[in-house]
Amino acid sequence: MLNTRYKQNRAAQRKVTAPLGRPGARAATHPSNGRSAGLHPVATSHHPLCKDRDNALLYDYERSVKESFDGIVPTLKKVSALQHETDFVSKAQRIAESHLGFALPGVLLENAWVGDLDMRSLYAWSVFETYHRFCDDVFSRDPLGNSDDAAFDTFLQECGFHILDVSPCADGRLAHVIRYVLRLPSKAVRRRSYAGAMFDIDDSLDKWTRTELMRFREGVPNTADVPTRYLKAVVYHHSSVDPVHQGCAAHGSDTARAAAGGLERLMGFQQAVQNTYCCGASIDCLLIGMDTDTDGIRIHLPNANGDIDLDNYIDSLEVYDATVHMDASQARQWIVDLILQKAGNSLSDGMAGFMAHLLTNNLSQVEYVRSNYGGHYSDIGHNERFIGAGIGFEEIQLRNLTFFSYLNTVEEAAGDLDVGISIFSGLYVSKGLPVPIVVRYDYHGNVPGERERAEQHCRRVADALHDRYRDLTDRGLLHTLQVVRDINASGQIEILDCSVKTKATAGAH
Ligand SMILES: [Zn+2]
Repeated sequence: MLNTRYKQNRAAQRKVTAPLGRPGARAATHPSNGRSAGLHPVATSHHPLCKDRDNALLYDYERSVKESFDGIVPTLKKVSALQHETDFVSKAQRIAESHLGFALPGVLLENAWVGDLDMRSLYAWSVFETYHRFCDDVFSRDPLGNSDDAAFDTFLQECGFHILDVSPCADGRLAHVIRYVLRLPSKAVRRRSYAGAMFDIDDSLDKWTRTELMRFREGVPNTADVPTRYLKAVVYHHSSVDPVHQGCAAHGSDTARAAAGGLERLMGFQQAVQNTYCCGASIDCLLIGMDTDTDGIRIHLPNANGDIDLDNYIDSLEVYDATVHMDASQARQWIVDLILQKAGNSLSDGMAGFMAHLLTNNLSQVEYVRSNYGGHYSDIGHNERFIGAGIGFEEIQLRNLTFFSYLNTVEEAAGDLDVGISIFSGLYVSKGLPVPIVVRYDYHGNVPGERERAEQHCRRVADALHDRYRDLTDRGLLHTLQVVRDINASGQIEILDCSVKTKATAGAH
């Protein structure tokens, strides 16, 4: 395991290895051609630690899902062009089935000859249907191949942690951070996204308490006497291509503010655990920055006092460039040496090993973006396809697909939702298309009454959304889909209601 290797390396280095020069100095010269490698080496570079099969699987999946969403508008344009022809309904259905893979609701097509087609309803319904099919695929087939949960749990515990709880920004450009950017098994990692990564300390404190209780009562994932800790990570973000405009909206596109905000929350959570539960209770914290254009990460290291240092970090893009022409074992050693050099003795062996693991994993993603997208994504700004509001959405592991708003009530998340609506107004409403919002509550089927509460949550939140954004709703520019899922049954999502009415007798929402 990497952690074991890290410990061996660390011991060896303490005896014999001289500290390396600055990693940037190592990165500056390209061994094969003597030119400066910079941050964007030639597209044909292949890193020895890049997992090619994983990259191919992830790319095929990303492309197929995004194509299914992006096919909706061109298909509906074709349908719209035919609306006054004879046999319109059967022609439209043939087009929909061949391009989208499903038929459109008959009631939305049948009256087209007397008036215009309700394209807004057709669009929202098609987005929801595509989302439904996407979810069914995830929960029946596991297309992202997340089968190594147990191995990851073992590794995490070897590093000294019994849970990894990650709070990225709710921005859709970070929605793939777990499975793609950090290459971790999504089911084995807790993810809660918040605008600006400013996570709810009470929510994390509640999870900490439940985690410790599970260890104490059930020995899951390990018994309470094992000296492992709760690891909380924050992922803030920045844009290397357009730092002034495409950074984190919640922090005014100011990278330093985004990093400081994340650190402040981490310290607040640590303090909350220490003050609430005495007897040495604490957590470990990890601050990660992510470049949403290249998917490179910055892992922050501690200063001499052991506190996370905003200015001391390792950038995976530099690691990639510095190690791309080494062999695999040299590259691994280089990463370990770099962590040792930059962190001194202020990191535990476990944390250092875990950081090495994340940096190594991310090299595959750096190459993924470089080889598939020419160095950086073309959609460096927002390009989400729908808003996800509620609790759940573990199936969303794709970039720029979903703007998240984790919430129990619309009131508590009003600020996050307003940010989302503003983004979608620019992306869709300005083109006459509606904002599609999936309202989702996952529940534990083995807890009496939890399903009913999830259903009530869905209804209440959907109603509150339509109330809050009444002007959009009244113009057919905001639609909601209400969804629940039983976590215990590990099954499909269930659709409760949709504001696009597909029965002739139903009124508009
Ligand atoms: Zn953000």
